[in-house]
Amino acid sequence: MIYGWKMGLWRLSLAIAATLIIGLMLGVGAWLAFAVALFYCYYNLRQLRDLIAWLRKSKHEEPPEAPGLWGTALDNIYRLQREERETQAVLSATIDYLESCFSSLKDAVVMLDASGHIEWSNLAAQRLLGLRHPEDHSRLLVNLLRDPDFIRWFDGANNAEPLRIASPVRSQVWVEMQSTRFGKQNTLLFARDVTRNVQLEDMRQDFLANVSHELRTPLTVISGYLDMLVDMDMPDKRWQRPVEQMSVQSKRMEALISDLMLLSRLESVPEPSAWERISMRPLLDMLAEEVQVAAKGERRVEIDCRAEDELLACSKEVHSAFSNLAINAAKYTEEGDRIVLRWYRRGDKLCFEVEDSGEGIEPQHLPRLTERFYRVDKSRSVETGGTGLGLAIVKHSLMRHQAELEIHSTPGLGSRFTCIFPG
Ligand code: ADP
Repeated sequence: MIYGWKMGLWRLSLAIAATLIIGLMLGVGAWLAFAVALFYCYYNLRQLRDLIAWLRKSKHEEPPEAPGLWGTALDNIYRLQREERETQAVLSATIDYLESCFSSLKDAVVMLDASGHIEWSNLAAQRLLGLRHPEDHSRLLVNLLRDPDFIRWFDGANNAEPLRIASPVRSQVWVEMQSTRFGKQNTLLFARDVTRNVQLEDMRQDFLANVSHELRTPLTVISGYLDMLVDMDMPDKRWQRPVEQMSVQSKRMEALISDLMLLSRLESVPEPSAWERISMRPLLDMLAEEVQVAAKGERRVEIDCRAEDELLACSKEVHSAFSNLAINAAKYTEEGDRIVLRWYRRGDKLCFEVEDSGEGIEPQHLPRLTERFYRVDKSRSVETGGTGLGLAIVKHSLMRHQAELEIHSTPGLGSRFTCIFPG
C-alpha cells in the first residue's frame, strides 16, 4: 500500500491524542504525549540519517527497508534513480554508436567548441592531420595545425569554400578541408584525402604545358613560311587563296597555343611574383587604343577613370585580363556601338568595368562563360577569331589577385563585365 502523508499525519495526531488522554488519566499530564513526540522526532532523524547514508553509497544498492512515509519516499527516489540510469545507458549507447560511425569514416572529422578547442576527433584525423584523441582534447586546433593557409582560412569569414593543403603528417598527401557550424557556434571540420585528384590535376596541367610547348616550335616555322608565301607573287594564282587561309588558321593556332601556355602558367604558380602600383588612367588609355585597333576605329570608346587612380597588382596579368575583356567588347559589338572602360570604387572594393552596347548574352550562358572553350555561338568562333580561352584567363588572373568577375548582360542591349578587387 502507498503510504500518504495524510495517513502519517492522522496516525501521529491519534497517537498524541491517545497518550495525552492516558497521561491525564495516569496523572502525568502531557509528559507522556511529549515523550511520544520526542520519540517520533528521534525516529525521523534516524530515517533521515539512513537515507543520507544510502544516497552516499552506490546508486545500484537497494534502499533500506522503512515503514510508512519514509518507505514511500525511498521507493520513489530509487525509482527515479533507476529511470535516470536507464536514460543514461540509452544515451551513452547512442554516443558510442555515433562515435564508432565517425571513427570508421575514411575522412577526418574534428569537433570544435566555439573558441576552436578540440572536443573530439576520429582515427582518420590522426592519420591525415596528426590529431590524437583523447590526448589533444581541449587543445586549440590552430596551435596544432600551423599551416599559414589553414590558419588564414580557419580564422577568415570566407571558409565556406573548401581549402586544399598538404597533410602536416604525411608527405605527398593532400587533404581538402571543409567546415560547418553546428550547435552553439561549434564547428565540425572534415578533411578528405584528395591526393589522387591533385596528381591527376598536375598530370593534366603538365600534359597541357608540354603539348603546347612542343607544338609551338613547329607551328612557328610553318606560320613563318606561310607568311613568306602570302607575301610572294605566286606564279599559279590558284594557290593564293589556300595559302592565305592556311596562314590565317596557323595564326589562330599560334594564338590558341599561347593562350593555353598562359593558362597553364597561371594555374601552376599559385601567386603572381611581381606586384607593383599600376596607374589606371594610362592603362585604360592603352586598352582603348587596343579596342580601336581591333574594331578598326568603328566603335565609340569612352573612358571613365580619375588620373590618380591606382591598383596594386601584377601588371602583366592585369593587363592581359583587362585586354581580353576590352577586345571581347570590340568583337561582340557592331559599328557605332558604345564601349565604356571604367575604373571606380564600390564600398571597400576597387572595380574595373567594360560595358558595351553590343549583342548581349542569354542568361543561361552566363554561369558557364568562364569555362575553357565555352562559346555562346560556336559557329562564330572562326569569324571572331577568338580562342575560347579569354574569359578563363580573366578568371584565373583575377583569382590570383583575390578578385572576382561579375557579369551582367541583357540580350540585344549589351553586357557589363566587372573585375572586383579587394580595396
Ligand atoms: P572567345 O575567344 O570565343 O571570345 P572568351 O572566353 O573570351 O572566348 O568568351 C567566351 C564567350 O563569351 C564568347 O565566345 C562569347 O560568346 C561570349 N562573350 C564574351 N564577351 C562578350 C561580350 N562582350 N558580349 C557578348 N558575348 C560575349
